[in-house]
Amino acid sequence: MTQFKILITDGLDESGQSILRASSQVDDRNNISADDLLKTIPNYNGLIVRGRTKVTASVMEVASTLKVIGRAGVGVDNIDLEAAKKHNITVVNAPMSTTLAVAELTFGLLLALAREIPRADAGMKQGKWLKKELEGVELNGKTLGVIGFGRIGMEVGKRAGAFGMNVIAYDPLISEDDIKQRGAEPVSIQDLFAWSDFISLHLPLNVQTRDMMGPLAFSQMKDGVRIVCAARGGIIDESALVAALNSGKVAGAALDVFSVEPPGLTEAVSHPRVIATPHVGAQTVEAQSRASEDIASEVLSALQGKPLRWKVS
Ligand code: NAD
Repeated sequence: MTQFKILITDGLDESGQSILRASSQVDDRNNISADDLLKTIPNYNGLIVRGRTKVTASVMEVASTLKVIGRAGVGVDNIDLEAAKKHNITVVNAPMSTTLAVAELTFGLLLALAREIPRADAGMKQGKWLKKELEGVELNGKTLGVIGFGRIGMEVGKRAGAFGMNVIAYDPLISEDDIKQRGAEPVSIQDLFAWSDFISLHLPLNVQTRDMMGPLAFSQMKDGVRIVCAARGGIIDESALVAALNSGKVAGAALDVFSVEPPGLTEAVSHPRVIATPHVGAQTVEAQSRASEDIASEVLSALQGKPLRWKVS
């Protein structure tokens, strides 16, 4: 059997590594630098990354034996897909593996925003009893606007229904009938902005969606809207968000993703009405092991010329 050489650069749960090791040489170079990646990549047939490693055109230029890049998760915005195509390198991901983990984190963030749970806890740890200041709002009876009603958006919608929320969704790539079947009322983006008490983003970052949540979008929203983003940094224009928080237009925001990661102590992170988490949407035991197993078998299938379930390009 051919011994494939596979490089892992952002860590991979052991369950997937053992699948790979059965037929391949596996090198786990977690946190490899960009320079070292350039030097090392010519030796490999497969590369498995998460979101940290930037697989640029320069990497692919020197990756003379590379056949496949696997993303252990969903977002492939760290991989130059055009360059991959040019060099005949297949890109695969593991899109089903992290859906529930992100949907559950989103719900945690919605509840944390509605009840200011992080502030309540921080007060307790400083010996303060902030009971009178901590009057939250209920999710029940409120309208949740979901932008991007794919895998994660739909799971968030289901959970919102169970909490008594009215779910509306904007997704220009899904038919109105499909959105209805997935349990939400299809609306235009303007109506979503105008009607939502909470907005949750579940769309990819691309040229169309970069900075989509900017000054104009915020100006069209209901006063006091609360926003959750566990999709991708860059979809929200963070300086416009800070302005909208300062003016009171936005009552609170919960961000798991940032335009630069890690962001450091930016205004968007340190703002008192922002709840910030360090891109932990997919960080559950279950999601990591699913992502690892899914990507390991998909990368091996690509190397062995077998049919692929999750070919991105
Ligand atoms: P998906 O492809 O199933 O759904 C995305 C949806 O967005 C699709 O239905 C698509 O039609 C829609 N869409 C595309 N362009 C749009 C636009 N301009 N306006 C509105 N909708 C648009 O993807 P998914 O698995 O549900 O993932 C959603 C997002 O979550 C992605 O950005 C992904 O990178 C992100 N994600 C984040 C984490 C995390 O750790 N926080 C983990 C996994 C995924």
